[in-house]
Amino acid sequence: MTEARTPLEQLRYCSLCPNICRAAWPLERGPYPEGEAPSAVAYLALQVAEQRIEAAPDILASVSRLDVAEACRAACPHGVDTPAAVRSLVLVRGA
Ligand code: SF4
Repeated sequence: MTEARTPLEQLRYCSLCPNICRAAWPLERGPYPEGEAPSAVAYLALQVAEQRIEAAPDILASVSRLDVAEACRAACPHGVDTPAAVRSLVLVRGA
């Protein structure tokens, strides 16, 4: 279990993680989509949340791709909920 508890802390934590949860990706859905890995989405969402990049439509479309993060969430050994953090900090708030 991670020390990261706030949504922002969870994005920071996940963005630096080597996607340990990838083993939970169901291969019948195809090869693991690296560009939509939880850490990739978390990193991009973090840049928006911390106002380093603008919440442009293409950026929001990218951080909205949460299928992989949702599929792998239960396998996160750190207790991070990246989809919830992304939604609360970027998608709901509109950053
Ligand atoms: S969801 Fe958990 S295991 Fe997966 S990349 Fe993020 S911190 Fe790592």
